[in-house]
Amino acid sequence: MKRLSILGATGSVGRSTLDLVARNPERFRVHALTANTDAAALAEAAKACGAALAVVADEGAWPALKAALAGTGIEAAAGRAAVCAAAAAEVDIVLAAIVGAAGLEPTLAAVRRGTAVALANKEALVCAGTLMTAAAAASGAALLPVDSEHNAIFQVLEAKERIARITLTASGGPFREACLETMRGATPAAAVKHPTWSMGAKISVDSATLMNKGLELIEAFHLFGVRPDQLDVLIHPQSVVHGLIEFIDGSVLAQLGPADMRVPIAHALAWPERIETPVTRLDLAALGRLDFAEADRTRFPALALAEAALAEGACRPCVLNAANEVAVAAFLAGRIGFLDIAGVVADTLAAMPAVPLGSLDDVDAADAAARARAASFVVQRAAA
Ligand code: NAD
Ligand code: MG
Repeated sequence: MKRLSILGATGSVGRSTLDLVARNPERFRVHALTANTDAAALAEAAKACGAALAVVADEGAWPALKAALAGTGIEAAAGRAAVCAAAAAEVDIVLAAIVGAAGLEPTLAAVRRGTAVALANKEALVCAGTLMTAAAAASGAALLPVDSEHNAIFQVLEAKERIARITLTASGGPFREACLETMRGATPAAAVKHPTWSMGAKISVDSATLMNKGLELIEAFHLFGVRPDQLDVLIHPQSVVHGLIEFIDGSVLAQLGPADMRVPIAHALAWPERIETPVTRLDLAALGRLDFAEADRTRFPALALAEAALAEGACRPCVLNAANEVAVAAFLAGRIGFLDIAGVVADTLAAMPAVPLGSLDDVDAADAAARARAASFVVQRAAA
């Protein structure tokens, strides 16, 4: 029996995790669930899985949560500090599925405690990968990748020193074959309509710009300890092959699976064992073919920006991530166009100096400064 807490329990990854937990009551017992503002959904989920504790990050949602849990015996709490405390409570594994840099502090709290972390929250590694991996090494916490591509690599990993190259696949998103003119006029509804995966709004937009694959290269750098030039991206529209490792002898191992996050979540949750999942099985004969192509960094400049940030290191990935979060929110709110997302990120990177990040305070300062800069570029572009 593993005791489990889920950070971001009301999101797409959080709900997939709860689905697996409900199907395996003899294997998992839920301690804490957290969410940002949706008290009603959080209380429902906490009651359904028998959690001991439910926490909303937004203090404004506290009265609603308390009312919804009255008489259930489930403890309710609110605020960012309470989310971090829940993350640091004693359990066997924490599923980190908060979206954005907001997930960094709670995820780091779990890592520092020495708890195994099943990590979906890629932005935590993008902003503060060096701090996270150092904290994991110090506490002995295992970082188990949930992001499907990284989970694929984790499944086929043999020995790091024999790896020549790691390739992450990308579906190419809804605009894989679109021309720049089409992308210029793309609406939020079109951008979040992912061809192969069903995900939260932010990561869906990141998939449409290919920033998601850029963030994942940075994530892979921290998870797998390879050089940036050993990391590669391959467009693969069917999302069947999720990740490949080429070894020094020329052999390539790949992981294949249906495009359903319950597969990588199940792997990380049950690791080193495996559990059953209800996902639709791969039918390669019905599929008939698998296609691969080079990524186009001219139509998708966000990928090149992320690759440059990874190569430059220091605060650059953190600045890239913060500017991207601001730009994606502005795009989803209808304030800027689709192509402005990478534009705002490029402007912000160009305007900010590269400074080293030694502590969590340095990360917070770089993140805040980049958000302020990006917000001013959003205003400029919204007025243009
Ligand atoms: P989502 O938007 O569906 O859910 C986000 C969750 O985080 C919600 O529970 C929300 O309440 C919580 N949250 C948001 N802001 C918060 C804040 N400021 N403080 C505390 N909690 C907050 O997102 P998602 O699609 O489930 O993605 C979650 C993470 O997993 C992201 O980092 C994403 O990149 C990664 N990921 C998702 C998928 C997927 O299939 N959805 C695949 C790979 C990786
Ligand atoms: Mg992914």
